[in-house]
Amino acid sequence: MNPRKHYFGSGPAALPQCVLEGMSEAILDYKGSGISLLSIPHRGPAFQAILDEAQELVLHLSGLSADEYAVLWMQGGGRHQFALLPMNFLKTSSAAGYIDSGHWAQAALKTAQHYGACQTLCSSSDNDYSSLPAWPPSLPEGLSYIHLTTNNTIYGTQMPELPLSPVPLFADMSSDIFSIKRAYSRCALFYAVAQKQLGAAGVTLVVARRTLLEQGNPSLPDVFSYAAQVRAGSVLNTPPVSAIYSCLLTLRWMQQQSMQTIEKQNREKAALVYAALDEQPLFHCPVAKDSRSLMNVVFKMNHAEQEQAFLNYCTSKNIEGIRGHRLLGGFRAALYNAVSLEDAAALANAIRQFNHKT
Ligand code: PMP
Repeated sequence: MNPRKHYFGSGPAALPQCVLEGMSEAILDYKGSGISLLSIPHRGPAFQAILDEAQELVLHLSGLSADEYAVLWMQGGGRHQFALLPMNFLKTSSAAGYIDSGHWAQAALKTAQHYGACQTLCSSSDNDYSSLPAWPPSLPEGLSYIHLTTNNTIYGTQMPELPLSPVPLFADMSSDIFSIKRAYSRCALFYAVAQKQLGAAGVTLVVARRTLLEQGNPSLPDVFSYAAQVRAGSVLNTPPVSAIYSCLLTLRWMQQQSMQTIEKQNREKAALVYAALDEQPLFHCPVAKDSRSLMNVVFKMNHAEQEQAFLNYCTSKNIEGIRGHRLLGGFRAALYNAVSLEDAAALANAIRQFNHKT
């Protein structure tokens, strides 16, 4: 087997070693049952125990109670949520407000526009999303909800705090859920695709306030209705059992470490990489310092023709997954929870030690 790489892919992303080992074991034989995880019935007690424990851990990590919030595991990825939110909660009598902080925030807005009136409340498109947009000084009357993206995976910006919103707040937390302590109770609903922080691709975590669910559009087919999905306990249709199990293993690993330790380590990792970028004259980070993401570090070389040489240098140091998004070019390193301090140090060293003449 090849040695483990320092892997910075932004999703599908690195997973903790214990999750990979737990998955391998469970796929061969789920808990000594003689049946593979890939074959256990989705309506049987073994899978129900997985769902119950995952729900408990999600609520614990977000500091919420099962009385107030429902936990759902859904398919269709982030884009599916972009459509479900307005289908369920955009009223015909009022508009939805969108915070335009980057590519995915805008994709959420464009999808919602299929279903009704939407307003961009603020945007940082004027500066190519190199900083977060300033929260609007006043909000239009009677919005159905506000949607925001806490971490902009492509542009490398991150909201340090969730705002207090007078209308239901919906947050796409796909690339920074459970990476820092947050006031999750400020959200009426938050969601995260699994393939960045939580586990294998194929499932999306949704956490929604129960009182919000009661106000959703009652005339939707069950498959598009959050309330119906909650009533069906995430098994309306056959769920991706193995992807959900991978999330459970990651949640257990997070719970063992505590959110405080995870946040501390995430801050240390990001500090290492940004310090190297700020010191090395061959590189720069285009993101405003007060908006920089702890999770996705976006950077460029001052001379783009040197980028391939840097990629080759990184490969020689066992560093992979740093090629930038096709929209921006340059580089992007995901420092999600499963990326270790040693991984971040290896990248910081490569940035510092790269000499374009060698
Ligand atoms: N939201 C964010 C913040 C993302 O980074 C992504 C994907 N990278 C998505 C939504 C879209 O997720 P999916 O590919 O599962 O539709």
